[in-house]
Amino acid sequence: MDKIKMVDLQTQYLRIKPEIDEAIQQVLTSTAFIQGPEVNTFAQALSEYIGGAQVIPCANGTDALQIAMMALDFKPGDEVILPVHTYVATAEVIALLGFTPVFTEVRQDTFNIDPDQIESKITSRTKAIVPVHLYGQCADMEPILKIAARHNLYVIEDAAQSLGAKYTFTDGTKKASGTMATIGTTSFFPSKNLGCYGDGGALFTNDKALAEKIRMIANHGQRVKYHHDIIGINSRLDTLQAAILRVKLNHLDRYERSRNEVASFYDKALAGISAVETPYRAANSTHVFHQYTIKVKEGKRDGLKVHLEQNGIPTMIYYPVPLHLQKAYKRPGFEEGSFPVTEELSRTVLSLPIHTEMKQEELIYITDTIKAFFHG
Ligand SMILES: *Cc1c(COP(=O)(O)O)cnc(C)c1O
Repeated sequence: MDKIKMVDLQTQYLRIKPEIDEAIQQVLTSTAFIQGPEVNTFAQALSEYIGGAQVIPCANGTDALQIAMMALDFKPGDEVILPVHTYVATAEVIALLGFTPVFTEVRQDTFNIDPDQIESKITSRTKAIVPVHLYGQCADMEPILKIAARHNLYVIEDAAQSLGAKYTFTDGTKKASGTMATIGTTSFFPSKNLGCYGDGGALFTNDKALAEKIRMIANHGQRVKYHHDIIGINSRLDTLQAAILRVKLNHLDRYERSRNEVASFYDKALAGISAVETPYRAANSTHVFHQYTIKVKEGKRDGLKVHLEQNGIPTMIYYPVPLHLQKAYKRPGFEEGSFPVTEELSRTVLSLPIHTEMKQEELIYITDTIKAFFHG
């Protein structure tokens, strides 16, 4: 058996090498490295994939969040509500632009922002809610959108981990993650579900005027070259990355199926271990399993991690230190105990290897090694 990896991008590449190499070669030959035609072609194809929302590519998922915040005209000191159990980028761009990140507790079952905790965080300065669809499953958007409508707030979905996931509203309507709110953002970081071979990201919106403004912000605030109507940044998706993504988008459904097969295997194999809680499946969302994250109870998480490591199995902890306890984001009143659910998650979550190329023998070995840890 080869070395087990968290993500196997090499085997994934080798399987589609001829298509990828040809796409790259075409860009090299054309030398249209910036804003080449592949960028638009990919944006169009992705737009279709997510149900028709406008897609504006940019340089990475963090920029996508920053551009979203810039497009909505917040003022310094305005407050933005976000889950405290998330990747730092979500909070980072809010703070960077002079707004205040308002951390909110998550649900212990879905790991996503708890809609019941949002309203108590709203003040006269609140401008937006940023749900994050963590690990690949949608946050509970229907109540979040209702709260936002009631208080006249924007909603920005961080769909960096959930591209392709679908949420079902109570009336039966299904929508793709990232397309349910004012703006959605995503990332094409290599290990994300649709990953390129470097950095990449995109914004989604159903609002044509907003899409135009986002396009301008991502390109130095200009519509016409050298005519800067608003303050923007330089955040573009490279033509090479767009060409790669265009090829990989055709395989995304297969990738999602593979990830779900791995998840189902883990679910069954780990079901009998009392100290292990396998991922909860929300009835109103599909799961694209960017991560397969278990909870390990009884204080056994770190021991299991070491045991797996000793047996050649990598695992990751997303995220080991909650944002409210990070030096950069600590504020008076934030302490151990401020967000008990998130703090408990930081002590119990463990993400197991999951990717598009996992083999049955690897899954058997991993789950047998986990069982041996608990049952000897
Ligand atoms: C990866 C990620 C980002 C940032 O994306 P980059 O492309 O790495 O900048 C933002 N939010 C979440 C939840 C992520 O997982």
